[in-house]
This record gives sequence, structure tokens and C-alpha cells, in this order.
Amino acid sequence: WRQTEYRRMTPMAYSYDDQNIFAKILRGEIPNDTVLETEHSLAFRDIRPQAPLHILVIPKGAYVTFDHFAQNASDAEIADYVRTVGKVCEMEGVEADGWRLISNAGENAVQEVPHLHVHILGGRALGRMLE
Ligand code: 5GP
Repeated sequence: WRQTEYRRMTPMAYSYDDQNIFAKILRGEIPNDTVLETEHSLAFRDIRPQAPLHILVIPKGAYVTFDHFAQNASDAEIADYVRTVGKVCEMEGVEADGWRLISNAGENAVQEVPHLHVHILGGRALGRMLE
């Protein structure tokens, strides 16, 4: 699928709402159960865990979705973010039993909070996601 088609289909997707709940968490207006904080990223436990291990990792920058981040963030932010996911996985010991990484973006994926987050899920059999 061509780049031009993709751009045409996502005209206004990247306007950032600084009143979203994760922006409030980053400003310290709402408490969170922090697992790891780095220069550019924050990892904290999901308030409604879907598995024994359910951690969200967000960049500190104002990015709505993974694609928004991947297209606009600096190399330093991207490296910090990916390394933070890796460090959390190491801290939580997901390697032995396996785990899942998910990022919902926009309407079709039913993204609830419009600040980029990846879900780290583990601690139980997660089933097949794609058939
Ligand atoms: P989404 O559906 O956008 O991919 O996931 C949003 C996630 O954020 C959900 O799993 C939800 O439980 C979590 N969440 C929503 N509000 C809060 C909050 O105030 N604190 C924390 N820690 N997680 C939240």
C-alpha cells in the first residue's frame, strides 16, 4: 500500500490533547504505580490489569500513537523508549514464559487514552491473538 494513500486516510490523526489521563500522570497531577522512569519514558502498572503482569510504557513527549512517535520522535527518544520496554521485561522476568506487546491506535483499535502507550502483558497463557 502506497505512502500517498496512507497519508490521505489519516489527515487529522495526530492532534495531541494535553488533558488526556497520561499527560496528567506525566505532570504529576494523578498518581501512578511507577515501575521504571527514564529521561524520555515512564513505565507504570495498568489500573485495570488484564493479566498478572500488565505494564504500560509511555514516552514523555506528546505523541498520540506509535506511528506518530515513529515518524516524529528523535532517535534519542525512540532508543530510550525501546530500551525502557526491554528493561521492564528484564525486571519482570518475562523471558522464561513469554509475553505480549500491544499498542492500540485510533478508532479501529479502540484506543482509550490518546497518548502513545504499549501494553506489556504476561504472567498467564494469553491465547492466540491472530488467526
Ligand atoms: P488502550 O485501550 O488505550 O490501549 O489502553 C488504555 C489503558 O490505560 C487501559 O488498559 C486502562 O486500564 C489504562 N488506564 C486508563 N486510565 C488509567 C489510569 O488513570 N492509570 C493507569 N495506571 N492506567 C489507566
